Amino acid sequence: MAIVIDGKAISRRIRAELKEEALRLKGERGVVPGLAVVLVGEDPASQVYVRHKENACAEAGFHSRTLRLPSTTAQQTLLNEIRRLNEDPQIHGILVQLPLPDHISVDAVTEAIDPRKDVDGFHPWNVGRLFSGHPWHKACTPAGIIELLDRSAIEIEGREAVIVGRSNIVGKPLALLLLARHATVTVCHTRTRNLAEVTLRADMLFAAAGKPEMIRAEMVRDGAVVIDVGINRLADGRLVGDVAFAECAEKASYITPVPGGVGVMTIAMLMKNTLQAAK
Ligand code: NAD
Repeated sequence: MAIVIDGKAISRRIRAELKEEALRLKGERGVVPGLAVVLVGEDPASQVYVRHKENACAEAGFHSRTLRLPSTTAQQTLLNEIRRLNEDPQIHGILVQLPLPDHISVDAVTEAIDPRKDVDGFHPWNVGRLFSGHPWHKACTPAGIIELLDRSAIEIEGREAVIVGRSNIVGKPLALLLLARHATVTVCHTRTRNLAEVTLRADMLFAAAGKPEMIRAEMVRDGAVVIDVGINRLADGRLVGDVAFAECAEKASYITPVPGGVGVMTIAMLMKNTLQAAK
C-alpha cells in the first residue's frame, strides 16, 4: 500500500518558511514582497483561484494587489496595465490569470511581463533559461512537483520518469526540471502508441492529461511513485485526478491525492518565486 504524499502539510510548511523569510527581508532591507494578480472577465474558477492567492499572500505577510478588468477590456489596455506594474517598485511578481477572453493574445500578454516579475515562469526568457538548464522563475506546478518529491525524500537522479501530457504549463517544463535532476525522461501524449507499455517502465509516473482516472492499476509498475497533476470535476460534482487513486495506491510506493496533492503546491511556488523576485 502506497504512502500518500500530504501536499497540504508540505505546502503549509513552505508557506510558513516563506513568511519567516518575508519578515527577515522586511526587517533587514525594508522590502515587502508584492504580487499583482490581473483578472480579466468573470470566470468563476479564476475568481476562486485569485481569492486563494490573495489569502495566501495576506497570511505570509506579502503585499498583494488584484486588478479586476471587464471581459471587454482591449488588449492594448491590458498591456498598458502590465507595463505600469512592470515599473511599480512595490510589485515584484505579476500574474495574469488564464484563461483570457478570446480577443486577447496570451503570447502578447505573457511577453509584455518583465521576465524578472514573471512569477508564473511562462515568459520566453524564463522558458529559455529552463531549457538551457539555468532556470530563473520556474513554472509553478512543475516546480511544486519537484518540491513534493524532495520533501518526501524521493530520489530523482537516474530514475525512469514517464510524464503523460506535453502541455507548455505542465508536461514540458516538468520534463526539463526532471532532466536537470538527472532523471531519464519520457513524455507521452495523445499519439503515443501502447501507452501502458511506456507507463509500466516508470519508476516515477506523472499524470497530466486532464482525463479523469485514465491511469489504471495495470498501467503502474509495482513500487512506482505516482504523481497526479490532473484536476477534473465530474458530472456528480466530485473532484478527481487523472489517476484511479484507490487501485493505483495498491501498487505504488508513493502517491499524491486529488485534492490535497500537487494542486495546493502551485500557490506556494508562486509565492516562492515572488519572494525570490523581491530579493
Ligand atoms: P492540456 O489539455 O493543455 O494538456 C494535456 C496533455 O495531455 C496534452 O499534451 C495531451 O496530448 C495529453 N493527453 C490528453 N489525453 C491523453 C491520453 N488519453 N493519453 C495520453 N496523453 C493524453 O492540460 P494541462 O493544462 O497540461 O493540464 C493537465 C491537467 O492538470 C488538467 O487536469 C489540469 O486541470 C491539471 N492542472 C493542474 C494544475 C495544478 O495542480 N495547480 C495546474 C495546471 C494543470
